[in-house]
Parts: sequence; C-alpha cells; structure tokens
Amino acid sequence: MLLSLQQDPPWVGFRVNTLLADITDVIESPVFSGIGCRPVSWRPDAFLVPFECRQRLVNSKAFTEGQIYLQNLSSMFTAQLLSACPEEQVLDLAAAPGGKTLILAQAMKNRGRIAAVEVVKNRFYKLTENLRRCGVQIANCYHKDGSKVGRQCPSMFDRVLLDAPCSAESRIRANRPDTYAFWNLHKIKDMQRKQKQLLHSAILALKPGGLLVYSTCSYAPEENELVIERQLQKFAGQLEVLPVEAPFSNTQTGLTQWQGKPLNRMLSRTLRILPDPQTGMEGFFVCLLKKDTACVE
Ligand code: SAM
Repeated sequence: MLLSLQQDPPWVGFRVNTLLADITDVIESPVFSGIGCRPVSWRPDAFLVPFECRQRLVNSKAFTEGQIYLQNLSSMFTAQLLSACPEEQVLDLAAAPGGKTLILAQAMKNRGRIAAVEVVKNRFYKLTENLRRCGVQIANCYHKDGSKVGRQCPSMFDRVLLDAPCSAESRIRANRPDTYAFWNLHKIKDMQRKQKQLLHSAILALKPGGLLVYSTCSYAPEENELVIERQLQKFAGQLEVLPVEAPFSNTQTGLTQWQGKPLNRMLSRTLRILPDPQTGMEGFFVCLLKKDTACVE
C-alpha cells in the first residue's frame, strides 16, 4: 500500500462542455480574464486554474448553466481512454456524479446511447441533475445495483466504463483528517469484494470485441491488479489487457507480482497515475481491457 500524504493540489482542472458551448467563447468570457488559465496539451477542452480561483468558477454563470465542469485531469484521462464514438451503445456502471458520463457524451456528440447506473439514491439524483444541466440527451439513468447488470444485459454494450467505488486512497490529505478517518484494511477488503462483482458484471455486459476501462482512485493492488487478475482467471484466454499510453509522464506501470505471488504478466500494461503538483493530477489506476470476439461465458 502506498499512501500519498499530500496537500490540496495547487491547480484545479475544468472542461468546457462542448455540448453546450464553444471553447473560445467560454475562455474569452470575463470570468476567466486575469486568472491565468492554462490549456492542457492533450485535451483542447481542458484547462487549469490556480486553486484559489476555484470558487470564482463555481459561482460563475458558465458553471451553473453547465458550460463548464470542474474535474481533475486524471478523471478526464480515464474517461477519454475508453474512446467512445457516436452511435455506440455505452455503459457507465458506477456513474454518479456523472463527470465521466459527460465526457463520454461529448465524445459521442450526443449520438448513440449511454446507460448510466448508480446504486446510491441521492447520488443517482445528483447524476440525473448534472446530466440534465449539461445537456446530455443520450443517457438513460438507472437507479440500480451495477453488479446485476451483466446478467440482465449480456453482451449488449460496445464499451463499458467501470470507475469503481474504492477506498479513495489518493484523496487522502495530510491536513484533512476527515479524508482518512474511515480508511482501514477492512475497508480495502470490502471494496475489493464489490469491485470484483462489478467488474465481472461489466465484462458480461460487454459485447465480444468490445472495450472496457476499469479505474479506481486507490493505490492498493488489492483494489486494482488483484481485481483484474481474478477476472483474467475467470475468463481465461478471453480477455486481453491493452497497453495504456498516457500523454504525461507521472505514471508507473502495473505490478506483475504482489506479496511474493506472481500475477498475470499482461498487468504490466495497466497504469498508475501518480499525483503531480504541476497539474494537480490526482492518483489513479487505469486498465483497458478487450473482450475476445469469441468470448462465451
Ligand atoms: N464515474 C463517476 C464520475 O466520474 O463522476 C464517479 C464514480 S465513483 C468513483 C463510484 C460510484 O459508484 C459512486 O457514486 C457509488 O455510489 C457507486 N456505486 C457503488 N456501488 C455500486 C453498485 N453496486 N452499483 C452501481 N453503482 C455503485
């Protein structure tokens, strides 16, 4: 286990929601003048502002009208990795509050269909409200347990995003005891159990030949490599881990052994995003999976 005991990041990321607004119009509007807005080289709709400007953004009309969405760059990268396309059938299996669903809808140009699933009621309402405010027209939101979806909708989706519930180790801040008050080894085990169920469901729901992104904001191998290792064993020979290529260097490749036990060598193609004070990027783990065209469960 690796804990990052960092302070709040000095930069805050946000995206212009191209479903509702033009990038240049938003960035040249008065709210952004004089605050040192930095473009992000690998996403034309993404920008960074100093942390102290966060509240100014939240209070802006662009924010309340859904023209901008505050989001960490690591989250943006995770959703972008799925490479969703217009007209596809996409599943977002743990979707609230919906920041990554919005990226999928933008990539799909509001054409096709997204099934966005969330099990916690108040988070489900937040999800539907965020997607409505941001002009997402192709999402159907479902208040249900994602671990049941795979059996109910087998081989239905071209792409699946599972941004799994996790122990959120990368959000731990040394100056904020509330961020680690509930962290313990039992919590990691409990999360691992849920993650295994959700990932199994996600794979069942994926069409043969389809792509799946699994991500967490935890560093724990128990919540990452070991969760994937389990499914690689269950779907023996029918899943391929594809290499994750990142347009930034604050990364570490996935582990191929843990506590003396060898793991599937394909796990070296997964990626940990390490916290980066230059961009405010938070720690994340990402894995891109492809289901074999001949996969049968
Ligand atoms: N992808 C979201 C975003 O970028 O806005 C964040 C997702 S958050 C990491 C994980 C979400 O999964 C939480 O909202 C949590 O309530 C939800 N969740 C937990 N267990 C679930 C389950 N069994 N089925 C569906 N959603 C679940």
